[in-house]
Amino acid sequence: MKYDRILVRYGELSLKRKNRKKFVGKLTKNVRDALEAFPSVKIHADRERMFIHLHGEESAPIVECLKNIFGIQSISPVVKVDKDIDEIQKASLQLVQQFHQAGGSFKVVTKRSDKSFSLDTNGVNHAVGGYILKHIDTIHVNVKRPDIKLLVEIRHEGVFLSCETIQGAGGLPVGSSGKAMLMLSGGIDSPVAGYLTMKRGVELEVVHFHSPPFTSERAKQKVIDLARQLSFYNGKMTVHLVPFTKIQETIHQRIPSGYTMTSTRRMMLILADRIRAQHHGLAIATGENLGQVASQTLESLEAINDVTTTPILRPLISMDKNEIIAISQKINTYDISILPYEDCCTIFTPPAPKTKPKKEKIKAYESSIDFEALLEEALQSTQTMTVHINETAIDEFADLL
Ligand code: ATP
Ligand code: MG
Repeated sequence: MKYDRILVRYGELSLKRKNRKKFVGKLTKNVRDALEAFPSVKIHADRERMFIHLHGEESAPIVECLKNIFGIQSISPVVKVDKDIDEIQKASLQLVQQFHQAGGSFKVVTKRSDKSFSLDTNGVNHAVGGYILKHIDTIHVNVKRPDIKLLVEIRHEGVFLSCETIQGAGGLPVGSSGKAMLMLSGGIDSPVAGYLTMKRGVELEVVHFHSPPFTSERAKQKVIDLARQLSFYNGKMTVHLVPFTKIQETIHQRIPSGYTMTSTRRMMLILADRIRAQHHGLAIATGENLGQVASQTLESLEAINDVTTTPILRPLISMDKNEIIAISQKINTYDISILPYEDCCTIFTPPAPKTKPKKEKIKAYESSIDFEALLEEALQSTQTMTVHINETAIDEFADLL
């Protein structure tokens, strides 16, 4: 039996009454973008749920795409039949036969929103359950833990049958909570931070700092590849590549060694914040985590954060490394992250960075240097590109200003 449509149940967004219309609109757009490769499917969304009419397309690859879209709680491929108990019985049998393995169990669950239907819920359960038992010898009923749960929904427009409920990605539709800039390094953490930020409905753009010739083209490409992997959830991803060499060299030459890392982070944050303002973002997301490295003590975060009042989203702040790695494996960024290309921060890492930097000290050190000219120059030379999960060739380079 071939499915004719897919039922999509909304996640938390059904709780957010006031914003529901906006959320459903965003989700519909995101689903439409994700299913671009299937031009014959039609999407119909209402306040309660969404139907994707397959028009002959196979359901499995479409379900795979839907599984990655935030804002979806669950997905069920369904068959629609007329409101006629004979039809319901026949189609139910065919559907259950597809999933049944000898000795397995089933259960029928009927929901009836069309109260005018001749049988009530129990009546449908019995009629359909009895029919299946009569036609499949090796099946039995188990109401508590059935192998197959056949859902029969009797609605005004027809009867919907499904056997599968596939878990969705949860969260909120990307774009429904505004935009943030993700500071993306080539490491394991920041891509995971990006994923978790998008899960809460935040649209992302990526900011990456590179320091040629100390960092190579391959290191830059690695970050672009990570951004492309994240574009899976964003539809596409805009990447801002900021040349950072002069600033890093200046910091290296002029700031006392214990403080170079703090200053580097501060300059990165200032630049990310300026790019955020230019592109109408509301926040900055990072992969910072408490306690991993010198820059990630509370004292350090305070000294770095001092350069802006923009909200900084740190979704990994309390996670253990193995939890972060598990997510990076799930979202397919891990294998890219562990490629051994140099990062601008590691190259300039001082032998003993201060774990408890003093805000006043770093401000005093920085005040003797004309960073403003260097920051402006870095912004002027920033390259902006857009990556898409299905694209390999990118030629949308354009100067930021
Ligand atoms: P990651 O695994 O994401 O590199 P990390 O554990 O190595 O993180 P740090 O090196 O202290 O931690 O970096 C903290 C955060 O600063 C990163 O998660 C990222 O958000 C940001 N960051 C670091 N280096 C860069 C860079 N070159 N470009 C953009 N953002 C960066
Ligand atoms: Mg790193």
